[in-house]
Amino acid sequence: MAIIPCGSTWVAQWGFRPQVMSRPSIANKMHASQYGVKCLTSSSFLSQDSFYSLFNTRLSPNPRHTRGARLIVRADSDYYSVLGVSRNSSKAEIKSAYRKLARSYHPDVNKDPGAEQKFKEISNAYEVLSDDEKRSLYDKYGEAGLKGAGMGMGDFSNPFDLFESLFEGMGGMGGMGMGGGRGSRSRVMDGEDEVYNLLLNFKEAVFGVEKEIEISRLESCGTCNGSGAKPGTKPSKCTTCGGQGQVVSSARTPLGVFQQVMTCSSCGGMGETSVPCNTCNGDGRVRRTKRISLKVPAGVDSGSRLRVRSEGNAGRRGGAPGDLFVIIDVIPDPVLKRDDTNILYTCKVSYVDAILGTTIKVPTVDGMVDLKIPAGTQPSTTLVMAKKGVPLLNKSNLRGDQLVRVQVEIPKRLSSEERKLIQELADLNKSKTANARR
Ligand SMILES: [Zn+2]
Ligand SMILES: [Zn+2]
Repeated sequence: MAIIPCGSTWVAQWGFRPQVMSRPSIANKMHASQYGVKCLTSSSFLSQDSFYSLFNTRLSPNPRHTRGARLIVRADSDYYSVLGVSRNSSKAEIKSAYRKLARSYHPDVNKDPGAEQKFKEISNAYEVLSDDEKRSLYDKYGEAGLKGAGMGMGDFSNPFDLFESLFEGMGGMGGMGMGGGRGSRSRVMDGEDEVYNLLLNFKEAVFGVEKEIEISRLESCGTCNGSGAKPGTKPSKCTTCGGQGQVVSSARTPLGVFQQVMTCSSCGGMGETSVPCNTCNGDGRVRRTKRISLKVPAGVDSGSRLRVRSEGNAGRRGGAPGDLFVIIDVIPDPVLKRDDTNILYTCKVSYVDAILGTTIKVPTVDGMVDLKIPAGTQPSTTLVMAKKGVPLLNKSNLRGDQLVRVQVEIPKRLSSEERKLIQELADLNKSKTANARR
């Protein structure tokens, strides 16, 4: 996933190549907030209805090159063989295989140069195969299927988080410091990111829109100036950790005995305790609403994420504020279907018009537009209305096309006059064929 800069806001589009910000850093950041990053992944994953679209071109990373073609993809790496399980193995078998492998390749225990890479591969494979939906996509279309559904490579959860979530409650592996710098010793705490779900109608998503939204987030408490301490009282050293903010303990785990460094629960890592401020209950922050103006760029789709810098929750003790992530959901149009930057539409044309050619009116995002149906148009022909599709994200001078599929209607009943004329046509055809044989 990449975050693409667009003016004051940033847009993340699933499945693009990373450009500015890599996935793990977001994963870590999001982990710190109350909104798990996994829920973001699945929401974008499910929202790609257009994946099952009419033309089935979604599997290609660039549909413009494969328009109308049926794409056959092969898996780049075989997740089943990565985990050493068969294709019809059960969830429990997959889980146990993952556990065994992850334990032996975890970079904290395995210092071989390739171990970390292998550990990531194992985690990626397990993440896909342990999820019914992802597994069935993978079985059908391979890795490209996951990409098409908005799960690009490098778009996996942090393998260490995955590992920890599975080993939780199994001897305190979570405290091994595998999370990569979480539970910072510093008293400065950055604010968590906030999430806002924004529903757009079809055209707003296509052409972009400026929206005023009301967000709710934690702001620095005015009563205690963000300290969390009741004004006029002095903080005292935490007796549990002696002011260190951390406590050390040893734990037996399947990997041996590990020293755990844990954030002190009495003081929350602050090293001191104080009489809590009445306004914020000691958090130093209070929840407030704020109206902000949001510029949604043209070309967003369900699952797109806009990032608004520093509009998340306030930090503590001088920490930086988090960001606001706006997650887009788009109401589908009853007749126009979106396929990435193309728009799909099906029109009905009578057999006579298909034979003789005609001009019909077609709905587009720009309004009704004349479309010429050429004489002799075959059923299921796709006509291209160039540049009537969706503007490209951050390149709104470029647009996709509208693809119109022509459905030719054959009448089920004929008037006697029609029947007579068609019969004449049939006779004419017969004599034509007879002449041709001669
Ligand atoms: Zn306060
Ligand atoms: Zn403490």
